[in-house]
Amino acid sequence: GVSTVSASPLRASAVGGPVLLNFNECPYGPAPVAQAAAREIVAGSGRYLFALAGELRDLFATQEGIGKDHVRLYPGSSEPLNRAAILWTSASAGLVVADPTFEALGDLATARGATVAKVPLREDGAHDVRAMAAAAARINAGLLYLCNPNNPTGSITPADDIAWLLANKPRQTRVLVDEAYLQYSEQRSVIGQVMQRDDVIVLRTFSKLYGMAGLRLGVAAAHPDRLRELASLGDNPLPVTALAAGLASLRAPGLVAQRKAENAQVRQATVAWLAARGFSCVPTEANCFVVDVKRDGSAFAAAMAEHGVVIGRSWPIWPQRVRVTVGTAAEMARFGDAFAAITG
Ligand code: PLP
Repeated sequence: GVSTVSASPLRASAVGGPVLLNFNECPYGPAPVAQAAAREIVAGSGRYLFALAGELRDLFATQEGIGKDHVRLYPGSSEPLNRAAILWTSASAGLVVADPTFEALGDLATARGATVAKVPLREDGAHDVRAMAAAAARINAGLLYLCNPNNPTGSITPADDIAWLLANKPRQTRVLVDEAYLQYSEQRSVIGQVMQRDDVIVLRTFSKLYGMAGLRLGVAAAHPDRLRELASLGDNPLPVTALAAGLASLRAPGLVAQRKAENAQVRQATVAWLAARGFSCVPTEANCFVVDVKRDGSAFAAAMAEHGVVIGRSWPIWPQRVRVTVGTAAEMARFGDAFAAITG
């Protein structure tokens, strides 16, 4: 059954096991050069190797064209996301999020007694920045979360809308832009904004396109004052295997372009296949999509699992839609077989 599968420490997509399309992971894992770098550094992992973290931070800053003092590394992007909720939301400082979106921040803010304003996405899947700015003023938001491309939809929010938001939001509302899936999209990063303003925090992760979800590496970019606030909640050195694999990934020529192209091709073929059968998706530029299955999404996901294809879940606002991660072409063929078997 499904629970046995998710408890397994090994990815089981190979050799007749279930296809795992539920956590927006990269089916290819770390690039071969990254795997080799991680293996090689294990012998040296009796040390913290702080200089390695500095090397990665500096290379990231250079590649992005921002200051080294505007970058801080974390073991995954979940950590700075959690710290942002702890620092900048409270009973007197609310949070504004899209609906649907990645729920970690909203859940933590809710647990802290903060008011959470959920603003439905626009019809085209973009964040409704005008409604979100109004909500921020209404609830005295300390933080506004903008996930671009968005999870679960993979939909994008145009740069013009983000610029409008930054120009029109309340002064006290910090904006956290989560770019976990940016490398899959055609969008430009807003990371350069951290050199212009002190109220924007941009997050990146190595868990998605770089295939390092289990290795744990993420980046927070912001004005040094904001990074100091994030760091004030305590230090936590990074796994050196992740640092070595991360450096190798940043240095691998063509890695981003190749994986982006591969994902786009498989995703577009899958979305077209679904459309031809009358099932529509929200426009997506990421490694996931939300499809309207025209029946209860939870029951549908359970039926797919029975056919050996584990997909993502539904969000309360859309009970008849499910999130699906884009796997390899072979995995999506199995997705198609199971989908066709269930929908007839
Ligand atoms: N942000 C978004 C939008 C995500 O989808 C995820 C994971 O699925 C994360 C952040 C956290 O990922 P990690 O902590 O592995 O970087």
